[in-house]
Amino acid sequence: MEEPPRAVRPDLPFPTSLCHRCAAPPTYVRTPRSVFILCPLVPERYPRQPVLECRWFRPTPPSEGSPPDERRPRT
Ligand code: SF4
Repeated sequence: MEEPPRAVRPDLPFPTSLCHRCAAPPTYVRTPRSVFILCPLVPERYPRQPVLECRWFRPTPPSEGSPPDERRPRT
């Protein structure tokens, strides 16, 4: 059963998104004007945010609570 959405990362866009708590792991791709969440599991790769339900969601284990990957696109 999926956990209910909640604001766990108010420092990030779409704070209620499940992606912030997912072990997928998602990657944050920042552009000068936006942040996109790249998912290695879903077919669309950049799911529409905020993701509130996801069949591939797996909660991040407590011991893996480090911040998710971030990367910037090449300019
Ligand atoms: S599997 Fe679903 S919840 Fe997890 S990062 Fe991908 S889109 Fe987000």
